[in-house]
Amino acid sequence: MADVFDVIVLGIGGFGSGAAYHLARRGLRVLGLDRFGPAHDQGSSHGETRIIRKAYFEHSDYVPLLLRAYDLWADLEAESQQQLFWKCGLMLAGLPNSEAISGARLSANQHGLTIENLSASAATQRWPGFRVPDTFDVVFEPDAGFLKVEDCVRAHLDQAAARGATLLFDEPAVSWSSTGHEVRVRTATREFVAASLVITAGPWAAELMSDLKLPLQVLRKPVFWSETTSPACNLDAGMPTFYFEMPSSKSFYGFPSLDGQLLKVAQHSGGELVADPLLVDRQLHDADVQPVSDFLQACLPRVRSQPAKHSVCMYTVTPDRHFVVDRHPEFPNVVFGCGFSGHGFKFTSVLGKALAELAADGRSDLPIDFFNLRRLMAVG
Ligand SMILES: Cc1cc2nc3c(=O)[nH]c(=O)nc-3n(C[C@H](O)[C@H](O)[C@H](O)COP(=O)(O)OP(=O)(O)OC[C@H]3O[C@@H](n4cnc5c(N)ncnc54)[C@H](O)[C@@H]3O)c2cc1C
Repeated sequence: MADVFDVIVLGIGGFGSGAAYHLARRGLRVLGLDRFGPAHDQGSSHGETRIIRKAYFEHSDYVPLLLRAYDLWADLEAESQQQLFWKCGLMLAGLPNSEAISGARLSANQHGLTIENLSASAATQRWPGFRVPDTFDVVFEPDAGFLKVEDCVRAHLDQAAARGATLLFDEPAVSWSSTGHEVRVRTATREFVAASLVITAGPWAAELMSDLKLPLQVLRKPVFWSETTSPACNLDAGMPTFYFEMPSSKSFYGFPSLDGQLLKVAQHSGGELVADPLLVDRQLHDADVQPVSDFLQACLPRVRSQPAKHSVCMYTVTPDRHFVVDRHPEFPNVVFGCGFSGHGFKFTSVLGKALAELAADGRSDLPIDFFNLRRLMAVG
């Protein structure tokens, strides 16, 4: 006899935890399933911190969602009685015509967001932890900052469970099927039935929806923590999160030191293709370290260029680097979110809500139309 629910959320990492929370808030019978444990380090939602910002350089259409995302993070902080968001600002640095600088200015102008424009020397003077190249412009966004990633996932899961959601971990789904009115999800030993299904499987999305032949690529992304002894690099000293778009078109981002000892930094651009996310190479190689080490020497000279520790994460990218949040073209009771292309976490609050609405109501009033699947299938 199968267990019966209103909605099953397959994959309760970043987005699935958000969806499970919003579904449970509506009083629905929710089952969340994950192949690993709560807030695990095997997918795409681990490594201590994620940048959150409003002046979105990737596209200004994200801004209305971001404004809503901020509100929902504040609600979750209040409900879970913990700080999830640190508003320490973001310093963007790049050539005046770089995507980061020009895109952030465009979004800020279009949506009336607060940003400050600084010269390279003014930025280096204000935040002595940085050495910004002379030819760069700097945009500072004071409302930006970072989220504690595992705490956010746990808060969504805990609040979902507190509202009655059933959350099963270490329980990989092996298959699912839909009649259009009912879904069945099978694990190695059990079968679950529900009216609808949310698939938020991160790097495993293409595998779980192989019928759709989603044009997704999974990329291996090492992240580093390097030692600093300079107080100028500390959160407490006012150092912001940072993103540098280099003339080589390589981009790097990072966070102020939270503990006064280690500063987190990584390369956003590039990444090796991952054939099987379960077998991603988690060892560190010289080729991983070199670009970040060169960047640190050039732009953060008070941070040791060799990492003290590392972690490996995965991006799941679409051809246009924009997200996919949509209903399955064949089964209206199956909805999914994937292809968050290395910039999705800040949206897990608001797109968790959108996914919950799509699953429960068949539609969402949130502005998610530009995440439709059609655009990618048209490209081929
Ligand atoms: C290094 C790095 C830095 C990043 N920096 C930022 C940033 O600064 N700001 C930002 O906004 N975003 C950032 N991102 C992107 C963001 O973290 C991701 O877009 C987001 O976390 C993806 O969440 P997800 O739910 O799609 O994937 P995941 O969190 O990996 O969740 C997918 C879940 O599905 C489960 N699952 C898969 N298959 C099955 C199955 N068969 N059965 C059961 N469960 C299954 C997995 O175990 C997993 O828990 C970064 C990503 C990385 C890797």
